[in-house]
Amino acid sequence: MKNGLGEWWGFSDTPRQTRQCQRMRGTLFLHLAIGPTIGVHFAPAVCRSVASGNRHSTRCVRWLHVSQLFSVPKSVPKQKSLFEAAPEPMPWELAADADRVVAGIVLARPLETVYHYLVPEELRELIRPGQRVRVPFGGGSVPTLGYVVEVGHTAPTSRRLKTILEILDREPLIGDPMLQLTKWIGQRYLASWGQVLETVIPAGVKKQSGTREIMCYSAAEGLAEKLASTKLSKKQQAVVDVLLSRGEPMMVDELTTLADCGTAPIQWLRERKLIVPMKRRMATWELENTGRIDPETDLKLNADQQKALDQILKLVRHKEHQTVLLHGITGSGKTEVYIQTIREIVSYGKQAIVLVPEISLTPQTIRRFRARFDSVAVLHSHLTDSERHAQWQRIATGNVQVVVGARSAIFAPTPQLGVIIIDEEHETTFKQSSTPRYHAREVARERARLAGVPLILGSATPTLESLLRARRKQDVLISLPNRVEGRPLPPVSIVDVRNDPHIQRGEAIGRALHQSVLQCVKAGGQAILFLNLRGFSTVLWCQKCGAGVRCADCDLTLTWHADRKLVVCHSCDYVAPPPPVCPNCQMPGLKYLGTGTQRLEQELAAKFKDLRILRMDSDSMQGAGSHDEALEKFRHGEVDILLGTQMIAKGLDFPNVTLVGVVDADTLLHQPDMRASERTFQLIAQVAGRTGRGPKGGRVIVQTRCPEEPVIMRAAKHDYLGFAEGELRHRKELNAPPFTHLARIILRGLHEPTVNDEARRITTIYREAAKAQNLAVRILGPAPAPLTRLRKMFRFHFQISAESLDAIHALWREVQPKLETHPDVEMTIDVDPIDMR
Ligand code: ADP
Ligand code: ZN
Repeated sequence: MKNGLGEWWGFSDTPRQTRQCQRMRGTLFLHLAIGPTIGVHFAPAVCRSVASGNRHSTRCVRWLHVSQLFSVPKSVPKQKSLFEAAPEPMPWELAADADRVVAGIVLARPLETVYHYLVPEELRELIRPGQRVRVPFGGGSVPTLGYVVEVGHTAPTSRRLKTILEILDREPLIGDPMLQLTKWIGQRYLASWGQVLETVIPAGVKKQSGTREIMCYSAAEGLAEKLASTKLSKKQQAVVDVLLSRGEPMMVDELTTLADCGTAPIQWLRERKLIVPMKRRMATWELENTGRIDPETDLKLNADQQKALDQILKLVRHKEHQTVLLHGITGSGKTEVYIQTIREIVSYGKQAIVLVPEISLTPQTIRRFRARFDSVAVLHSHLTDSERHAQWQRIATGNVQVVVGARSAIFAPTPQLGVIIIDEEHETTFKQSSTPRYHAREVARERARLAGVPLILGSATPTLESLLRARRKQDVLISLPNRVEGRPLPPVSIVDVRNDPHIQRGEAIGRALHQSVLQCVKAGGQAILFLNLRGFSTVLWCQKCGAGVRCADCDLTLTWHADRKLVVCHSCDYVAPPPPVCPNCQMPGLKYLGTGTQRLEQELAAKFKDLRILRMDSDSMQGAGSHDEALEKFRHGEVDILLGTQMIAKGLDFPNVTLVGVVDADTLLHQPDMRASERTFQLIAQVAGRTGRGPKGGRVIVQTRCPEEPVIMRAAKHDYLGFAEGELRHRKELNAPPFTHLARIILRGLHEPTVNDEARRITTIYREAAKAQNLAVRILGPAPAPLTRLRKMFRFHFQISAESLDAIHALWREVQPKLETHPDVEMTIDVDPIDMR
């Protein structure tokens, strides 16, 4: 009971007296006494127990003995130190601590608190952080699912702790580094830790998909002594021998095979408790490396690539965390730099995570990695629960060298992470669009920092966020300014289609593009035509009221899908037969306007009767493997024109593509979003990058009605830096990201006036709190969201903008816990939002 101050005696700590103690806070109530005589010194220690958050428990007194009362302290306690934060624990605390096991639990709900629960005796050996448990929660002690995040002996509360009901997982679902990472995500993106865990751990892992419980037998404890008094038959003896020689639980059929017997001897042994049954979980999948293909050797790097690789390997060898922005134009050979970086990582027995946008998870990308490494795991969104669980387990064994996957692969449980690579870092799909709304790039940055490994961000058109960090020397910038083998970037022609006779007739392909397609194919090349709108016609327009037909549930016009003979809402997937009359004014004869990929396909078929045309968009690529099949056809030259949406803009590397047409650059430009220009530039640069990859070269045609638009002109010149310079200046003037952080708070509900009122009320609360706290934030709004209605819900929003995220976090933490929202209004926060609709 020594704590350097002398000997102490705890007096009592029943809940009643604890309450008293709290009430008397600051008046030094007798809660414990120090000194030679009982109750003489009403020490400030009393208040310490309060000030430090009542860290002693109801049971601590049990450990202290009255005899200690009479021993004299060797020195006078330094009273000040008693008030300081986190001093040595008091002896009764230590005593109590040793006696109980307390688990910190987070719930999969929007609650930030870590709740503390007692771990019952029988679960103490089993409980570990990363497991799921069921705990009694709230006034009614409703059994509720939670995640164990810590196991210890203390709880920061003097309240009586409830007890954990059951543990749901035999093994932790995630390890310590991942627990830390998920905690960070919760804090960074203002979601609860429990919600983050709930999302990050795949359903297949939680459900143990692809495994089943199997009955096994093991030898009973002290079997040898028991056998001394039992006579066994030959078969029974055989079973015992097999079990003992194996030394671990065995399945029945294994036992019967090896002991060459039926089940009767097993039954007999079991009844006499000589062997004991137990359930074991076994995988039903075969953990083997699927999709092995012919190995390829690494390419000889050119000087730029070698320089980039050397810089990256320096970081790798020094086990240093640093983010590298690899700005390499399309076709500059970034992938080869990634691969040779991983080559080194793998030679240390470590693993790499490579994130790519979901649509880049093409067979082409996967083949590239599989041809170079023995063991590659691919995590895409089409895996079944059981496949995902199998991959997760395989990765966790450390036998996978490279994990290639979309956004959520950043959580892959690699035991010895060596590097994280994000290809096409500018892609918006790296941001999760539901709670927790994390950005995989920022999560990767934190994971790489925790692991002390480099993070490589690759792009031809980096986000302004990443570029600014590199300029500020927070990250390292490495450039690959040339295409491999000295190939030039393709020339880009901007075609003003305002006076084009074809376009005026309502067609999508203007004269110049038409001619170029013919020339391209005649010369033996292939063409890619990019249009960012799917469906047949993008608007059903009423001539009388001049409005487009809208979705019943969303504030969006419906798209006519000729193949399905239905009108479709691209936001909520509402479908209906096309209305015969305008739903607004009952006027018949709705016009089908605008061109989506389906109409474009029809137009191409009519214009180029002899050419083979293939459409790739999410409607035509529904079946599993259809994407791969289509690209294989294109690769083998069975297709002349590939047309499609974003799906064909990324990553494809086909040397025979000598023409790329951007059918309508303006669709990208006119979006109510500060990043519209940035996205337009990125998309044009990406699609343009699909051509000129072979010795035949290539060209690009961009059709637009806004030929003077600076972003289009810059894109035509492949002038990323020029564009970025201008755009950064513009954002700086606007005080917008990347110079500030934003948090967007969205309120939604079925009743518009209620949501509106609530938005106003809450914005005011935030505004006042910001003022009261003197926080350097600006609050903008509230206003109806650009997409005012979605899935029946009316949407309003307001924004908090600040130079530092800390200010936004501080404001949220100040307001949110006390905020009571209208029961019919949902509130969500999006930190560093990308989708501003
Ligand atoms: P990026 O990802 O920068 O667009 P890629 O990595 O797809 O570029 O490379 C473009 C093409 O150049 C690929 O076909 C690749 O195999 C090839 N390539 C890359 N590096 C080299 C090299 N050092 N020598 C020859 N070809 C290379
Ligand atoms: Zn809708």
